[in-house]
Amino acid sequence: MHTDERILAYGGGWLDRAGARRTDPGWIAARLADRETVLLPLWRDHCLVSAERTPVRRGAVEAAGLLAAADETVFLGLDGGVAVFAVDLSGRSEQEALELAGAAEAVNVRSLVGGLGPAEAAVQAYARGLLHWHRGQRYCGSCGAVTVGRDGGHTRSCADAGCARLFFPRIEPAIIVLVEAPGAPDRCLLARHRGAPEGSWSTLAGFVEVGESLEDAVRREMAEEAGVTVVDLAYQGSQAWPFPAGLMVGFRATAAAEEVRVDGEELVEARWFTREELRARSAAGRPLGRIDSIDRHLLGTWLTAGD
Ligand SMILES: [Zn+2]
Repeated sequence: MHTDERILAYGGGWLDRAGARRTDPGWIAARLADRETVLLPLWRDHCLVSAERTPVRRGAVEAAGLLAAADETVFLGLDGGVAVFAVDLSGRSEQEALELAGAAEAVNVRSLVGGLGPAEAAVQAYARGLLHWHRGQRYCGSCGAVTVGRDGGHTRSCADAGCARLFFPRIEPAIIVLVEAPGAPDRCLLARHRGAPEGSWSTLAGFVEVGESLEDAVRREMAEEAGVTVVDLAYQGSQAWPFPAGLMVGFRATAAAEEVRVDGEELVEARWFTREELRARSAAGRPLGRIDSIDRHLLGTWLTAGD
């Protein structure tokens, strides 16, 4: 069970993002001309990997062709002083991208979790999220002119001088909540989502809407989806979820009453589970949430708290 609260998958702050230096185009250009600098090629949200399913890393000077072919090059950060950039080959066909990168396959980074070290998974997810944003922000939402990347790829600005609007990478926060029952015995609320396989239970989650605090979103979502009024909200941790732009914010809360009434839209069923039931399910080979998810972390922490 993954219960390390310091590092959930895709997090950890492994790179020094060098926020004060990446705004200097001269510094970025010097990094790209440095023999030590590393390029991570990506293709349409996919990680480009070798035959051994290791993400491809190429030297920026040695792989100048890769830089020339990229739709976008973004500075991710410094890894022990070595600059790391992501290059987007999405404008190419899959075959061209594989050849340019010297890769064997294009895969979803989530399919690599477990085999990749946490730092590598985090950096690949970060690169994927940032490049995804660039592809969706090519035009200005105010005037329709093209936008251009700047600040090492952490900002885009409208190319129309009269407009010059700035765009920042967009993050879409969502709350995810482990709801406990009021009174004994200890139980938590899990739900089956529409479309999820039979017997697949998870904690409740939903997007934060405009004009809401995280706590507002927790109260609204639990009431809308499960008919549950929650009290005693407590922050549990957060997880970068750049698939494509999420930030998962985990809470624990207590239901004011035991009655549950699912909305029938997002949730088809919800009920209370004791720790014994969850342990029995886990022992029977039915895992609690995906290995890389904060869902599993919330459940794991709750189970451990009962020991
Ligand atoms: Zn504009």
